[in-house]
Amino acid sequence: QRKEPGVVIKDGWSGYSLELFNYPEHYRGDLECVYVPHGVIMNRIECLARDILEDIGHHDLMVLCVLKGGYKFCSDLVESIKAQSRSANRRLTTRVEFIRFKSYLNDQSTEDLHIIGPDDLSVLKGKNVLIVEAIVDTGKTMRALLQHVETFQPKMVKVAGLLVKRVPHGAAELPDYVGFVIPNRFVVGYALDYNEYFRDLNVRSRLFLQKLKPQQR
Ligand code: 5GP
Repeated sequence: QRKEPGVVIKDGWSGYSLELFNYPEHYRGDLECVYVPHGVIMNRIECLARDILEDIGHHDLMVLCVLKGGYKFCSDLVESIKAQSRSANRRLTTRVEFIRFKSYLNDQSTEDLHIIGPDDLSVLKGKNVLIVEAIVDTGKTMRALLQHVETFQPKMVKVAGLLVKRVPHGAAELPDYVGFVIPNRFVVGYALDYNEYFRDLNVRSRLFLQKLKPQQR
């Protein structure tokens, strides 16, 4: 089984100067840099889609998108899986279900996780499930989700995470498909928010480093 570390972004990476790119004017001052440009994200997603297709693309795929942060990644990933499967003349059906978890209050990963989503995920029974999460920090969300999904007796469960943070007590288990391993910094954009702030930074879908937490301003 493939478990690649993904693209490793080093601690010293200071991103691209904001001045060289356009971004919504109302966020001027809140962002430090363009951390991962859109094209790099998209190209990496194509590679993840290729790996997923190779591993589980001969079965029908039940995608479980973790909202809200995962919606851009999920949509781009599923599009890429479908496009590559079409061009390889495969007959793959994908179905997307959504689940919402709340693990973050401000910038603290809180202890209790609430599932706000369909209570009944019995459609997962006997299926090949791909959990799609934008970012894995402590790994708590991923673990809780895996446990929850297992109770519905799927045939197989894999996890795709666009970003995995390098944190001191981070996830012991990596997702099966990892886009980027990033330093322990707070990223926004590409549907990742800060208490709903910055979610609209998905125009042109890049990832930014957040400069100051709003309460520090
Ligand atoms: P974990 O349970 O792995 O500690 O946290 C995962 C969740 O925390 C993610 O789904 C995301 O909602 C949130 N999170 C963790 N790090 C970041 C970050 O750098 N930026 C944003 N916007 N959310 C994050």
